[in-house]
Amino acid sequence: MEIIDGNQVAATIIAELKAEVATFSGRKPCIALVRVGDDPASISYVKKKQATAAEIGMESRLFLPPVTITQAELCTLIDQLNADDTVDGILVQSPLPKGIEEVAVFRRIAAHKDVDGFHTLNLGKLAQEDETGFVACTPAGIMELLARANVTLAGKHVVVLGRSLIVGKPAALLAVQRKVWANATVTICHSQTANLPALTRQADVLIAAIGKAEFVTADMVKPGVVVIDVGVNRVPDASRKTGYRLTGDVHFPTVSPLCSKITPVPGGVGPMTVAMLMKNTVKAYRQSRAAA
Ligand code: NAP
Repeated sequence: MEIIDGNQVAATIIAELKAEVATFSGRKPCIALVRVGDDPASISYVKKKQATAAEIGMESRLFLPPVTITQAELCTLIDQLNADDTVDGILVQSPLPKGIEEVAVFRRIAAHKDVDGFHTLNLGKLAQEDETGFVACTPAGIMELLARANVTLAGKHVVVLGRSLIVGKPAALLAVQRKVWANATVTICHSQTANLPALTRQADVLIAAIGKAEFVTADMVKPGVVVIDVGVNRVPDASRKTGYRLTGDVHFPTVSPLCSKITPVPGGVGPMTVAMLMKNTVKAYRQSRAAA
């Protein structure tokens, strides 16, 4: 069994981006980070994004509207960033306060600056296999992890647990593409799927993204499976200072001995998400320069 080390792969991608950015003359790629309110998890995610941008030699600009901002005011800020030629990518950190419709805000971001890949146009481009679009960072990170761990998907059965727009659906759309690195046969499972363990047992590659701690157990996988565990769940743990530990959607102690490869939680998919956000921003920069 091999552990796929997401920290190591993400560090390699960051080093590649740093080398590429160093070759750019003049203005460097710039990401605008919009964080509404003071959600503790959002604060730490945005800090990590700022630090990674700095490490690569990119610019990041932080916008911190108060939790009381209205949807219309937030859209005005996005319009300003859309119009600013020195901003290549815009990230609005989720979750947004109650009363603000997230999808409407994501759609407001100009598609060519939508480095999170949530805009309708970018989801459409993903379905059309149009590589000028932006793929959401977590599913893009999953594919990079698989490729760099030398997992071939062609002809394999990929089972995706979860059908969210930010992970499950785009991951499935990527795996099924007519590309040498994809060409998988894909099954998507969700809460209404009947006889789910019978399907997961068929998986050559199992991507678990449901947000249920240790849901996938040893009886649900076949020996030799490659498991990508996307879940990030807090489980109460009195032995920890924080009072909780992080766990994935897979019961690692019993499932991992059956796997040929598996990602850990933490240290698997998580670090890839930030690396792919930066990769998308560098792509947006390249595309805007090419169009200028
Ligand atoms: P989500 O929007 O809540 O979607 C969960 C999906 O799982 C839904 O499609 C749901 O089905 C399905 N599901 C829930 N319970 C199920 C069950 N018992 N059996 C089968 N399917 C079930 O979650 P998400 O945003 O995709 O995130 C999934 C997990 O990934 C979370 O733990 C999240 O924290 C983690 N995540 C990690 C990263 C990272 O960077 N590492 C990034 C994003 C998300 P229905 O559609 O039928 O409701």
